[in-house]
Amino acid sequence: MKSTVEKVDDNAGNMEICKKYCGSCPTYKMNNLQNNPPQGLFCARGKSSVAENAKLGNCYCPACELFTKEHLIIGHFCTK
Ligand code: SF4
Ligand code: SF4
Repeated sequence: MKSTVEKVDDNAGNMEICKKYCGSCPTYKMNNLQNNPPQGLFCARGKSSVAENAKLGNCYCPACELFTKEHLIIGHFCTK
């Protein structure tokens, strides 16, 4: 069985979709994730380089069209 991280394609179109959700999410802003790799599309690229010390807030992934399309679960991909 493929893991979540392998399911979603890392491409520019998906990054644009991600920006709509991660980009406005409290966890993203609180932890300055835009300035730390991989900056977004965590469901494809894996967690943030600052995940270990990240404060957890709401996650907007469940509202994202990729979350539904790829049958993802839970969210908070930036920290897991
Ligand atoms: S599921 Fe979350 S991490 Fe993945 S593209 Fe959507 S908002 Fe970004
Ligand atoms: S993965 Fe979830 S918690 Fe993390 S920045 Fe994206 S929407 Fe926010």
